[in-house]
Amino acid sequence: MPTITNHLPTAELQALDAAHHFHPFTANNALATKGVRVITRADGVYLTDSEGHRILDGMAGLWCVNIGYGRKELSDAAARQMQELPFYNTFFQTTHAPAIALAAKLAELAPGDLNHVFFAGSGSEANDTNIRLVRHYWATKGMPERDVIIARRNGYHGSTVGAGSLGGMAAMHAQGGMPIPGIVHIEEPNWYAKGGDETPEAFGLSCARQLEEKIVELGAGRVAAFIGEPIQGAGGVIVPPSTYWPEIQRICDKYGVLLIADEVICGFGRTGNWFGSETFGIRPHIMTIAKGLSSGYAPIGGSIICDEIAEVVGRTEFNHGYTYSGHPVAAAVALENLRLMEDENILDHVRNVAHPYLAERWAKLAEHPLVGETKLVGLIGSIALTPDKERRGKFASDEGTVGYICREKCFANNLVMRHVGDRMVIAPPLVITPEEIDVMIERATLSLDQTYEAIRSEGLLKAA
Ligand SMILES: *Cc1c(COP(=O)(O)O)cnc(C)c1O
Repeated sequence: MPTITNHLPTAELQALDAAHHFHPFTANNALATKGVRVITRADGVYLTDSEGHRILDGMAGLWCVNIGYGRKELSDAAARQMQELPFYNTFFQTTHAPAIALAAKLAELAPGDLNHVFFAGSGSEANDTNIRLVRHYWATKGMPERDVIIARRNGYHGSTVGAGSLGGMAAMHAQGGMPIPGIVHIEEPNWYAKGGDETPEAFGLSCARQLEEKIVELGAGRVAAFIGEPIQGAGGVIVPPSTYWPEIQRICDKYGVLLIADEVICGFGRTGNWFGSETFGIRPHIMTIAKGLSSGYAPIGGSIICDEIAEVVGRTEFNHGYTYSGHPVAAAVALENLRLMEDENILDHVRNVAHPYLAERWAKLAEHPLVGETKLVGLIGSIALTPDKERRGKFASDEGTVGYICREKCFANNLVMRHVGDRMVIAPPLVITPEEIDVMIERATLSLDQTYEAIRSEGLLKAA
């Protein structure tokens, strides 16, 4: 076997990848035929691939590289920690400074009485923890039958069996026996696709009231918790109508249902505040965190838990944990990432520079003949592609056909913009500058123009 480095020819790397590397969320045989793209390095908001293209990463990796690529402070923090203490567990009445410092920092940043952190290696693991936590909480309080968790269709909470069950992704549920028992789903607050003739405000209320209907149907004594992302990310950057979260909060309060805010994408500055819960006025009992926590430089996630749940669950041994819960290297990297976010006023940059600059240009994309709506909160945004702007029409082609074409045009124009069905989504690094936003918009516009031409000539510009 050759030594495998960036210096091998692309075709050789692709062949070895196809032979041995089985990719997540991928049709692997088709990818082997097409040839995978090899990313070799990255700096700021730009990726470089093995063919030397400089690609503007409009997705911050997978919604996570909030601080941008190439920050030496983070690699230094990792190297220091690896030399001092590369690993020790936090199970057996032991701890270490990185886990202590990160937990204390998160308690300081998190709103309200969210003062306790249970660490995991990822967002999926953290949501699995949350299932165990809320059920054990109610059992400890003498209500073991209070074990049902309500979530939303087209929500995303991760890909383990537990987290995938909390999520409402039909394509995921179609494989491998999900959802597990005790998890039920209500409608997502996706006005553009599902709001019909209702106003967004009325639709937001009726979606939220499905939570109340479900609680009443099951009996309040059966419902442990409700989980939702402040803004659905992987579901297509669905920004709920303004009426939605206040009504969800009211219902959770009324029935004493625990509220879990999945902040894996919305957390750490994405919406212009530390947490999406602040942006939407949500008062969660638990927040799920991962992704931007370390800006993706090290795998780490966790659950930030309120005083009451920590006290109740703390009465006995919680029979749950991960080898890498509070991993010292990942924790040191996350802590350094949060320090940079604060020292460099990244939230201020999002709120007062990047968001206002992008918002104007992003909204203007709605004038494009293919664009039905644009959404942007902080630095997370989406556009709906449509053949019929007036009626928010869907394409006659299979959902995602046009979105995929647009994504491929973006790639060809050196822009990473992802598609979810026929919505295009962005979540660039939070450090993106106005000049880089200009490049992103220029490439996005060109890609939309090319998509429009392509689908017109292929006869795909037809409404269902
Ligand atoms: C990505 C994501 C997860 C899962 O995180 P992983 O680190 O991929 O396990 C959970 N919730 C939300 C909202 C996410 O976007």
